[in-house]
Amino acid sequence: MSARLKIGIAGAGLLGRLLAWRLSRMGHAVSVFDPAPDAHPRFDGKQAAAFSAAGMLSPLAESANAGTCVAALGVRSLVLWRELVAQLRDEPFHAQRGSLLIAHAGDLGTALRMLARLHEVPKGLQAPQLLDRDQLSRMEPALHGVAHAWLLPDEGQIDPPQTLQAMHSEASREGAQWHWNQQVLDVSPAALTMADGTRRDFDWVFDVRGVGARPRSTKGPDHGFTIKLRGVRGETVWLHAPGHGLTRPVRLLHPRHHVYLVPRPDDVVVVGATEIESEDRSNISLRSAVELMAAAHSVMPALAEARILRTDTNLRPALPDNEPRIETVPGRVRINGLFRHGWLIAPALVQDALAACKLSAVAPTPAAEASA
Ligand SMILES: Cc1cc2nc3c(=O)[nH]c(=O)nc-3n(C[C@H](O)[C@H](O)[C@H](O)COP(=O)(O)OP(=O)(O)OC[C@H]3O[C@@H](n4cnc5c(N)ncnc54)[C@H](O)[C@@H]3O)c2cc1C
Repeated sequence: MSARLKIGIAGAGLLGRLLAWRLSRMGHAVSVFDPAPDAHPRFDGKQAAAFSAAGMLSPLAESANAGTCVAALGVRSLVLWRELVAQLRDEPFHAQRGSLLIAHAGDLGTALRMLARLHEVPKGLQAPQLLDRDQLSRMEPALHGVAHAWLLPDEGQIDPPQTLQAMHSEASREGAQWHWNQQVLDVSPAALTMADGTRRDFDWVFDVRGVGARPRSTKGPDHGFTIKLRGVRGETVWLHAPGHGLTRPVRLLHPRHHVYLVPRPDDVVVVGATEIESEDRSNISLRSAVELMAAAHSVMPALAEARILRTDTNLRPALPDNEPRIETVPGRVRINGLFRHGWLIAPALVQDALAACKLSAVAPTPAAEASA
């Protein structure tokens, strides 16, 4: 138990909202600063990457793109998300029905190469299960023309916009203060410097600005690893397909495109995502839109009559090794580099960061204990 601390958080994306909720719930006085005009999603290419994410919680499938540390954080976070979602009063959509890897007949080689890249199955997860056509059509009758399929039984998904809104509401109920239209220029131990030059002092500050944490100049205060941050462009297409019938996230293993289809509430299917080494936040390219939609339609013909709700573009915050980083000095914690795994690993990362700076719940006052 500790005294009530003043905490400043730079960034109200995935990490910022999760930290604001956990720390205000622990009894601390939390203030969050973000250049966004308010807490709501805009899909304008400038907002938190968290809003644009598909929300797949895939420690095994993602281990083809990441080191063992991401898989281990992901396995822990699968359990933590179940607990966290149950604590949110505006409960967001969250499911753990497994995910599918699928391939067309001619793409078995590509699929086997991807399966070979999966690291040794992390403790606590089941290995991929090969499905025959009957098993697949019982499980996902909406899929057609699929020759090869594997079920990754433990994987899950979460609805990012709903979860971001729910964490914002819950943190607000716990007393967190939100300062919108506020760009933080510098995060030094126990202080935030705003774009207008004002300095705000805290006991602890958290730098969780995603790509926005990269300093504009290499000169000046200690920037640590943030100097090496880059944005990796990801484009998605959101479809409205009433009665589509898909019940779990599906990844199509293809020699040219890596495409996934993720079902969401209200008949929505999110098709994604490109991974382009560019910080261009402009609209989706024709090529990406055509490739994503053609690949999705090739396995789910019912999507032909879907309506395009929106296309979306955003930048994933990444470090040179594509691994996440927590850096703690007295009075300041930086967390960044969540790349394409933020939703998968955020709960375990936040748990580790709070343990590293030894932040614990506020000791109740004698008056609070007497009234409890
Ligand atoms: C297309 C796409 C698909 C994805 N799919 C998945 C998926 O299926 N599963 C998964 O696990 N992950 C996925 N991700 C990755 C995930 O979205 C990110 O890893 C995660 O959002 C990173 O969280 P963050 O809090 O570090 O950054 P963000 O969510 O980007 O939040 C950063 C916040 O900081 C604010 N900010 C920026 N500059 C400043 C400043 N100067 N001062 C104050 N605030 C500032 C921003 O406005 C923003 O609100 C996907 C990402 C993309 C783009």
